[in-house]
Amino acid sequence: MENIVFVFVAGLITALATGLGAIPFFFVEDFSDSWNVALWGIASGIMVSASLFGLVNEGLAYSSGDIPTLMLGGILVGIVLVEASDRIIDAVDVGGNHRAHGGHDNGSHDNARDDDGGHDDEIEETPLEAAAFAEADLKKLVLILGILTVHSFPEGVAVGVSFAELGLDGGVPILGLSVPLLAVFMTVAISIHNIPEGTAIAIPMRAMGLSKWRMVGAAVFSSLPQPIGAVISFVFVTWAREFLPFGFGFAAGAMVYLVATEFIPEALETGADLPGGGRRELLVGLLAGVVAMVPLLYV
Ligand SMILES: [Zn+2]
Repeated sequence: MENIVFVFVAGLITALATGLGAIPFFFVEDFSDSWNVALWGIASGIMVSASLFGLVNEGLAYSSGDIPTLMLGGILVGIVLVEASDRIIDAVDVGGNHRAHGGHDNGSHDNARDDDGGHDDEIEETPLEAAAFAEADLKKLVLILGILTVHSFPEGVAVGVSFAELGLDGGVPILGLSVPLLAVFMTVAISIHNIPEGTAIAIPMRAMGLSKWRMVGAAVFSSLPQPIGAVISFVFVTWAREFLPFGFGFAAGAMVYLVATEFIPEALETGADLPGGGRRELLVGLLAGVVAMVPLLYV
């Protein structure tokens, strides 16, 4: 029991680290369109590099055989999940608004284009339309938060697996327990990895005008599957180890697909009025996001 609590706390630490990612938004209130495009780019760069350097790399390390079938299967399921969630969320009426949007399957994208916050030309906007914009934003938010929350479960599983030899000889003494060095590294690595991911979550929430503490809350919430996954996998460690290539592939597939279908289009819509359509800002942001995640290669 003591061991399980210990693993749970390690998972909780990684989850709390995600909240740190929203902190920068406590210091800056307002962003120009250029900055907003760059921020979407940063969020995209963070998520793509977390997937490729972190998840796929780890998934390969846990894979056996010549072809990582399990991981490839995970990637495919991740993509299908995002696409399916997008369609389901689009079909559901959030908040009892009856504006018809069944005719086109990507209604949220169309609506969001007009809602980049930086325009003053929305005077003739009716209350009904305003509600529809808010609904489209809400759907996008549910999708992004949902996918990021689901992706953090396999990461929690990885943390739990790394604690397999907790209490055995040869570990690092922490609070009277012998903790495997691998577990210390894994907890620190996932915590560090979570900070920019918290930023990636805060960016869309900020774009939709949510309060600062809600951004922190959402960031931490998105990582709550980590202590849960850590405990489950610690208890069923043999099973969990086999699941890892699939889990990592799944998380990577879902995140990269989410970036391609939601983050990049959102950035380009926000930057539509900028010179060059905001492509330069997007590219700079993407690169900055990738650079922020490069240290992952060395942990
Ligand atoms: Zn992650």
